[in-house]
Amino acid sequence: MNPNFLETPIPYLKGVGPNRADSLGSELGIHTYRDLLHLFPNRYLDKTSYYKINQLQPSGADVQVIGKIIHIKTVEQKRGKRLVASFVDETGEMELVWFRSHKWIRENLKLNEPYVVFGKTKRYASTFSMPHPEMELLSEHQKGLKIAMQPIYPSTEKLSNKGITNRVIAKMMQQLFLECKGQFPESLSKGMMDELKLIPKSEALFNIHFPKNQELLAKAQFRLKFEELFYVQLQLISKKLLRKQKIKGLPFGKVGENFNTFFNSHLPFELTNAQKKVIKEIRNDLGSNAQMNRLLQGDVGSGKTIVGLMCMLLAIDNGFQTCLMAPTEILANQHYNGLKELLGEMKINISLLTGSTKKSNRTAIHAQLENGELHILVGTHAVLEDKVQFKNLGLAIIDEQHRFGVAQRSKLWHKNEVPPHILVMTATPIPRTLAMSLYGDLDISVIDELPPGRKPIKTVHRFDSNRLKVFQFIKDEIKKGRQIYMVYPLIKESEALDYKDLMDGYESIARDFPTPEYQISIVHGKMKPKDKDYEMERFVKGETQIMVATTVIEVGVNVPNASVMIIESAERFGLSQLHQLRGRVGRGAEQSFCILMTSHKLSEDAKTRLETMTRTNDGFEIAEVDLKLRGPGDLMGTQQSGMLNLKIADIVKDNQILKTARYHALQLLKEDPRLEKEENRSILFAYNKMMQQKTIWNYIS
Ligand code: ADP
Ligand code: MG
Repeated sequence: MNPNFLETPIPYLKGVGPNRADSLGSELGIHTYRDLLHLFPNRYLDKTSYYKINQLQPSGADVQVIGKIIHIKTVEQKRGKRLVASFVDETGEMELVWFRSHKWIRENLKLNEPYVVFGKTKRYASTFSMPHPEMELLSEHQKGLKIAMQPIYPSTEKLSNKGITNRVIAKMMQQLFLECKGQFPESLSKGMMDELKLIPKSEALFNIHFPKNQELLAKAQFRLKFEELFYVQLQLISKKLLRKQKIKGLPFGKVGENFNTFFNSHLPFELTNAQKKVIKEIRNDLGSNAQMNRLLQGDVGSGKTIVGLMCMLLAIDNGFQTCLMAPTEILANQHYNGLKELLGEMKINISLLTGSTKKSNRTAIHAQLENGELHILVGTHAVLEDKVQFKNLGLAIIDEQHRFGVAQRSKLWHKNEVPPHILVMTATPIPRTLAMSLYGDLDISVIDELPPGRKPIKTVHRFDSNRLKVFQFIKDEIKKGRQIYMVYPLIKESEALDYKDLMDGYESIARDFPTPEYQISIVHGKMKPKDKDYEMERFVKGETQIMVATTVIEVGVNVPNASVMIIESAERFGLSQLHQLRGRVGRGAEQSFCILMTSHKLSEDAKTRLETMTRTNDGFEIAEVDLKLRGPGDLMGTQQSGMLNLKIADIVKDNQILKTARYHALQLLKEDPRLEKEENRSILFAYNKMMQQKTIWNYIS
């Protein structure tokens, strides 16, 4: 076959023509033969097998059942009537249900005659029912032609209005296979296919579109999913290898005075083994001559800050400047104060740069950065501004990654002639699967252990109707000297209403917790930074016992004496946000609590979120549930990832295949980094094609 055959524009396909081509292009992005070939069916109607009633599963799949109707009745319901037929086979009984056309159906159905029924089944209580089944007498069915599994393609309303129905698409596909005689170039190596028992590409493509049976379909799906994930991984990994070869890193060869002084006489506690392990990994990176690009994952409270600080000291010991960026002013402030305290008497110059840094102060900081006097700059996005120039930035740390995008990372890269080392610390653990796909070009370190002595936070779910009891509990805790957070949701779409809720809540709390016995702080986004800081400060110092806030409090804030986190309208928060918020307590030696307040109206997803939160404190486990609930598309940051545009694989469901694909991609690049070996020619060819033709897998690099 001509290697460019698949690049043929779609109007050349017999039966397509310019009008249909236009619709296919605008509705489904199909412009070439290749695009059409990679339009995979969403699902299949399986008319190859017959199910017994006791084999039915609540999977929503379309199934075929043979049986007899033994009884028909009309059931009155609020809106109209429904017709219900009892349908039996030798294994059990189910219901066939109609909401429309009763009369006609009733008159035509035959009792006690064998039928083949086809449709989706649903389960109510323990009985399966099939609404509006396709029905055929068994005797007729046996005379008819057996259709195998029927593919159902993605479509749009516009397409069906233009007459491009599922059948038409299936016809086009047949024509395509006819024109190329069903032969497509193989894109994996023979060795790999043998090892993984993968079917050849041509066979896989045939069976994904025209499966002969379930088994062949499964094999085709496996082969194509593997291939898709393999090529994404191959690309991510080769990008990483290339970076390591090409971009020389700043050598941090020595462990010097500052690091040692800090380690020996300033460290306020013994590092956990996980922290030690991670510091070692980072030191190895920094000591090699490649540029570091590392993601540091660790659950809330696992102690990432101190790890960051020790890396900064390494940079300083090697004669470089460093910066630490945080997503909010509150957090930047807190990091600044925290680092200053940790460093104590040590001779390290550290400054804070945020949106509200005064002009005179700012000018001084700019000057000290440029002449190299300043060692550590802590700040917000303000650090990224072009005016901010370093003499020799050696290491940039980004805290709470999900608020920063790739664009910002790359801005940091260009703050120095040679790109600085970059350490990204995530606030929210990302499931390994996702991390591998999203950040496959980063190295990953994980702190998988909390500092000793932490008591797991007790989490409960309470309905708004129990508020008085909750308030009493708060009073008891305050009596013991503890502090309380009360957090309200705030989202853009309903901002005005949300602020009203917050202020209403604040007023009612102020009534129930009157001064002078109780002091309350309030912090939200509409306040001036100065006022925010003032209120925050009062809470940090213990002058107020209750902090009423929106989610500005979410990230990183550290008040060890706070032991209760109340989350209002908890059903409106996402899992990772709930987990982050909960992480604000449980930082001291006392037992801490998290109370999730909700109304009685809860969606299924909300129930799962609440159940997950009350069941576990493990951020990684929570992240897995989150990923399953929301799918990768919704997780922040995934927009940057080609994994969103996968045509057939699903990084959640096909986790196992992803792992296998990654392993094989790594293995291949280890053995044949430039894909020069004869046996890998087909891979090289497909890889190059993919790089030219990003539309194939829609991979954004
Ligand atoms: P996060 O990983 O969420 O950024 P932090 O760095 O803010 O966590 O650390 C949380 C708290 O735990 C801080 O008060 C910190 O001082 C403390 N901490 C960190 N490491 C240890 C340790 N090894 N032993 C005891 N306390 C620690
Ligand atoms: Mg932190």
